[in-house]
Amino acid sequence: MGLVVQKYGGTSVGSVERIQAVAQRIIATAQAGNSLVVVVSAMGKSTDALVKLAREISANPSRRELDMLLSTGEQVTISLLSMALQELGQPAISLTGAQVGIITEPEHTRARIFHIKTERLQRHLEEGKVVVVAGFQGVASTTDLEVTTLGRGGSDTSAVALAAALRADCCEIYTDVPGILTADPRLVPDAQLMSEITCDEMLELASLGAKVLHPRAVEIARNYGVQMVVRSSWSGHPGTRVVSPVPQPRPLKNLELGRPVDGVRFDTDQAKVALLRVADRPGIAARLFGELAQQNLDVDLIIQSIHEGNTNDIAFTVTKAAANQAEAVATAFGPMLSRTTLETAGPEVLVNRAIAKVSITGAGMIGRPGVAAQMFTTLAAAGINLQLISTSEVNVSCTIAATDCDRAIAALCQAFAVDSSSTHLSPSLPVPSPPVRGVALDLNQARLAIRSVPDRPGLAAEIFQRLAAQNISVDMIIQSQRSRSVSGVITRDIAFTVAQVDAETALTFLSKAIPELGCGEVIVDTAIAKVSIVGMGMLGQPGIAAHMFKALANHQINIQMIATSEIKVSCVVAEADAVTALRAIHAAFDLCGQHRVEIPA
Ligand code: ADP
Ligand code: ASP
Ligand code: MG
Repeated sequence: MGLVVQKYGGTSVGSVERIQAVAQRIIATAQAGNSLVVVVSAMGKSTDALVKLAREISANPSRRELDMLLSTGEQVTISLLSMALQELGQPAISLTGAQVGIITEPEHTRARIFHIKTERLQRHLEEGKVVVVAGFQGVASTTDLEVTTLGRGGSDTSAVALAAALRADCCEIYTDVPGILTADPRLVPDAQLMSEITCDEMLELASLGAKVLHPRAVEIARNYGVQMVVRSSWSGHPGTRVVSPVPQPRPLKNLELGRPVDGVRFDTDQAKVALLRVADRPGIAARLFGELAQQNLDVDLIIQSIHEGNTNDIAFTVTKAAANQAEAVATAFGPMLSRTTLETAGPEVLVNRAIAKVSITGAGMIGRPGVAAQMFTTLAAAGINLQLISTSEVNVSCTIAATDCDRAIAALCQAFAVDSSSTHLSPSLPVPSPPVRGVALDLNQARLAIRSVPDRPGLAAEIFQRLAAQNISVDMIIQSQRSRSVSGVITRDIAFTVAQVDAETALTFLSKAIPELGCGEVIVDTAIAKVSIVGMGMLGQPGIAAHMFKALANHQINIQMIATSEIKVSCVVAEADAVTALRAIHAAFDLCGQHRVEIPA
């Protein structure tokens, strides 16, 4: 006997027959003695169809009216599923987000959940009914009942939030694949099913493009210790468990709106090695990091910035003890990384042994562009200059002068109201994990580069704050290592990626702001893709990034940008190379298997 929350995605409820099959599965769970709350998505691709209708009327529809429209999709499914259950003799009732009392912030089309009222749900459960709840929606105020939606793919988040609010025994996410696979099986046909994955890994994978789970759902599961499993709607296979350590108890108020940042991490045992003006051609990163791995040097942060002409800058960090050896590798290797065979001097190698890395982490920053900007502003206000910046949706890391570290930590902990935590993620896992758990591809990114940004504290903060004010989320931010003197002012280039839909706005907006900020031109490239590897097992294991770069080099794929965090490595490549790149790295880490996943249409 338990309380189970089940969620069925669009394909799983895409037709009357499928809704009837879902009803059978629900009844089997109920007959096993469980109480059930069932969350459903809109049927098939009906949310897309509604978006299309809106666009036919307006190029830029009001977000409030969009929510009004999109929330109808789920309402169709809840009523049909309840009817199907009743038809089979199972008492059931359908409820919208408003009827349940799923209270969100007043942010149309991307609202986060404040809290969920459980009284009405409990009452119907006690009456022996299966409660069928509309996913993806809530209301922003109990008086006006303003309908909000949680953002595309948000039904997963509704389900996990309900499981947390009801303290359910488990949350089962039913979808059109057998669980979480090593890659999207639509792109990599020999992707394999995992029996389990940690929340930390899944959070990275989901935010890097594996849309099988909404990243915010993973965050709630991690914060509240919800037992989550992803399974197929069409088979009895046990699927993939998403595991996390038992969390500290936390209040059910502000479910998603607690702190945007979970932790401030720092590492003072870091030294930075930078190579300036490295040739921009396939295989370069592979050779350099391959050699470092050969020498058993564990590289932490790797950043490759945009190129100017036909050269790149590559910077990486290692422990202080490894700095000399890393420098020797970089220097010895230099001439091989030059643009032409005639150049014997090789790229310039710079080593800085007095640096520290500070990071902020937390899924609360997803979709909140102001958070990274707030980190930069906080550091700028403390007069701290940022050297390397590397970001993902759930992590922002900067290197700074070692002497600034204490002040940086104090300022960040205060700004984000958190304690500074351990220097590293803990690799302690229930089972030993492979270095790379899965790979992901994000095709919806565009790259922007701003040339010649004056190198003074506060400028990165200023730029990203302005973008945040336009509600543009910046994903991978890379500040170049190389500095240049423009009319006597030291400048650096900054490159970053944004969602493709935001690229035009970002370009127009930045181009206008440029003269005022004293920067050079802004360049945009939408024909890019981001490929990533994720795995807890890469913590403390040298050579993983090198292996990824090698796989890309073997396919003659040029790497445009590199950014790493502790458990992931992402590379920006040309869009035309994206799927080849994804398959190549999937194969290189031995993730392929014999069993092919069938995906129903
Ligand atoms: P639902 O409608 O059930 O929420 P989604 O379409 O949102 O389903 O998510 C399931 C899809 O996610 C799969 O059909 C698959 O194409 C895609 N996907 C991407 N990455 C992965 C992965 N690593 N494992 C499984 N599925 C993935
Ligand atoms: N129906 C919504 C969408 O298509 C929510 C969901 O399916 O998770 O985005
Ligand atoms: Mg989904």
